[in-house]
Amino acid sequence: MILLKTASDLSRTLASRRASGARIGFVPTMGALHPGHLKLVEHSKKNSDATVVSIFVNPTQFNDANDYAQYPITLEKDIYLLEQAGCDILFLPAIDEIYPRGTALQEPYALGYLETLLEGKYRPGHFQGVCQVVHRLLELVQPSLLFMGQKDYQQCMVVRQLIHLKQLPVDLRIIPTLRETSGLALSSRNLRLSEKDKEAATAIYRSLQMIRNELRPGNLGPLITRATNEIRAAGFEKIDYVSIASAQDLSEVSNWNGHSPLVALVAAFLNGVRLIDNLSLAEAGNPA
Ligand code: AMP
Repeated sequence: MILLKTASDLSRTLASRRASGARIGFVPTMGALHPGHLKLVEHSKKNSDATVVSIFVNPTQFNDANDYAQYPITLEKDIYLLEQAGCDILFLPAIDEIYPRGTALQEPYALGYLETLLEGKYRPGHFQGVCQVVHRLLELVQPSLLFMGQKDYQQCMVVRQLIHLKQLPVDLRIIPTLRETSGLALSSRNLRLSEKDKEAATAIYRSLQMIRNELRPGNLGPLITRATNEIRAAGFEKIDYVSIASAQDLSEVSNWNGHSPLVALVAAFLNGVRLIDNLSLAEAGNPA
């Protein structure tokens, strides 16, 4: 694995790989890697000739300075894991390499309603920061394939919108969420949870599964209330949202027609750690 720290080294190295016909696969991350990240690397390796992983904790996507300050960093272990996983190039830039003209957004991305709901609503400016960094990274790496996790469902939709807005020639591949056997979605932020908290955090997945199992056409309000109560009872001190939404555009669905594809999404705080998760629900409706 080659480790590169500057944008110019990365561009030069990739230009020569591309010139020899290599199809580049790209996995952007913020480090503190876990098997979920490595799944994306595995998919990239299967589908491309050279896999680039970036590790960059992007300051512009944190709306909460505390969350940024406490974001876990496990660089030595990350490098070891990526070597083992067969990553070809690790890009490890400093802030100046990503934002040579400073971190201020030059021009807002037209994300429309997508940034007014769910994560967009509770983390103002977050998706502008995500677009800013992903746009810059895509321009540097120029991959054929981009691998992202369904764990960040709305982020995938935002990046799809970015690709469309900027007409970027890249194919976005969305990879299913990897979970602990308990159901807890793997996340770098889990490093901030005690074993007891991790146990309590499984309530999120249980409530998502309950929604999937109990889903029936009609009013979805009671299901949302049950899931919210289950998460609160597990010890979560604050719940940003429990939502059942259109899988296509994330608009809230309060009364289901029994046919349209849905996704259930949760964001909640456990001992100061904000966790998110989601689960795709019936594609063509559960039997009533
Ligand atoms: P992050 O380092 O949290 O920004 O995540 C980097 C990429 O890994 C994003 O595309 C995430 O959606 C993806 N990812 C994070 N957790 C998981 C998981 N449990 N399973 C699969 N992909 C994940």
